[in-house]
Amino acid sequence: MQGLMMNYQLTIPTILKRAEQVYSYKKIVTRQPDKSFHEYTYADFVSRAKKLTLALQRLGVQPGERVATFCWNHYRHLEAYFAIPTFGAVLHTLNIRLFPEDLTFIANDANDKVIIIDKILLPLFEKFKNNIQARTFIVISDDGQVPEGMYDYETLLAAENEASFVYPDFDENQASAMCYTSGTTGKPKGVLYSHRAVVLHSMGAALPDVMNLSEIDTVLPVVPMFHANAWGLPYTATMVGAKQVYPGPHLDAVSLLEDFEREKVTLTAGVPTIWLGIIQHLEANPNQFNLTPDMRMVVGGSAAPEGMIRNYDKFNLRVVQAWGMTEMTPLGTMANLPSALKDASDDAKYAYRASQGTPAPMVEIRARGDEGLIPWDGKTMGELEVRGPWIAASYYNAPQGADRFTEDGWFRTGDIVTIDFRGTVKIQDRSKDLIKSGGEWISSVDLENALMAHPKVAEAAVISVFHPKWAERPLAIVVLKQGQSATAEELKDFLMPKFATWWLPDAIEFVDSIPRTATGKFLKTALREQFKEYKVGVS
Ligand code: ADP
Repeated sequence: MQGLMMNYQLTIPTILKRAEQVYSYKKIVTRQPDKSFHEYTYADFVSRAKKLTLALQRLGVQPGERVATFCWNHYRHLEAYFAIPTFGAVLHTLNIRLFPEDLTFIANDANDKVIIIDKILLPLFEKFKNNIQARTFIVISDDGQVPEGMYDYETLLAAENEASFVYPDFDENQASAMCYTSGTTGKPKGVLYSHRAVVLHSMGAALPDVMNLSEIDTVLPVVPMFHANAWGLPYTATMVGAKQVYPGPHLDAVSLLEDFEREKVTLTAGVPTIWLGIIQHLEANPNQFNLTPDMRMVVGGSAAPEGMIRNYDKFNLRVVQAWGMTEMTPLGTMANLPSALKDASDDAKYAYRASQGTPAPMVEIRARGDEGLIPWDGKTMGELEVRGPWIAASYYNAPQGADRFTEDGWFRTGDIVTIDFRGTVKIQDRSKDLIKSGGEWISSVDLENALMAHPKVAEAAVISVFHPKWAERPLAIVVLKQGQSATAEELKDFLMPKFATWWLPDAIEFVDSIPRTATGKFLKTALREQFKEYKVGVS
């Protein structure tokens, strides 16, 4: 139609092209397996990504086919993030922390043709290699020594001439990448991200009230590139031209702190368990590291305990909570303090920062309770539903997931929330984790966060156990900090002023560790199994 805008396709190659033209001099740093630092420029990165595109085409990969990765966070994984979708193939990041049976299912379900593997992960890969259909394997190694029958990544790149690369044009609604839900609450299901979704997500994530990411930032994604695309950070950071730092396989507290200090990181992102480990190290060694003041630490994946946010503030490090899902590319909401709370009490500010925050532009929210859509009063609970341009419209190849989508086109998140008049979302629980005591809901998340605010508690998970009168009652499972001892009574007294009496856990059990999912969340299904014979309320 005359007078309208150009029909410009929102595709990942447009991000790559801009990186080449505008940010050629910017740096990308990686912690290598041997702990040394590798550094190169965006110009090097783009040139090598182009060569990888050409190499994959030479191996016969066609647009639409899946190329999987089985890798840590590093510069060559970033090359794959761009090279694969750039010629219309689909990047499929395999989660190295899943069991071999899950990986076999996922690689075959996705119909992966080629797999790119870190040499140090070959022993894990061997555990499912013979059960999958893919037969073309490319190994990333630093010494060029790869097992017979597999290709060496660097040899493939060295054989290509980037002058033969041409930026392609294609439809933005084509698939660019795919991930599987990690199966915390069921069998893994595939999600296909379109190019358009990734580009719009990158722009949305960069906005000031979302991740507030720009060229002046130095970004270190701790969140794995094999889980929910490292929350899209590799694409967002490349789009805005930020300096990027990748931790390689070194995710222990000291290595990460060294990376933050050496590279003057201004924004990092990861799950609460990573930050809980780091704060323990900082508290024990307060003067060991000189970190960038106000470094932002985006936390998501499960609820950030308020106590942890407070503790980081003492070190001038700012925890910012985000909520998202694999099905949402993954960003949904972000808790940057709004102007309305500028002069509020500290408690009110922390309460806000411990919420999941407000939805990013283009992420629409609503929540449904027993009586229909809930009012945004900050009190009524309901299941959160979302829609927007970077939210899956269906699962790949998984008809059993169809009930997650409403008839009028919204995605049912499975998270039980309240929403207040400013659109602040507060997750009360996953629907499967809520405790229903005598017909009333108790939020396990609230109890866990309150317990983790106790100075002696390192971790806490709360599950429901059978009760003859109330049907379900909360049981708290607690890991104490090293060298600490505490009684159940002491912890209950600590909770007492914060909750109605009927919310308090009936019992507190102390354990050495809490089982975790592949993505570092408390594995409540395993805890429920472990404590299924547990008796409360029976004398
Ligand atoms: P999985 O479903 O396997 O856990 P995801 O990584 O997609 O895989 O998890 C998304 C879920 O994680 C959300 O539905 C929510 O329950 C939880 N989650 C993510 N971020 C937060 C957060 N900031 N606070 C509380 N829960 C969160």
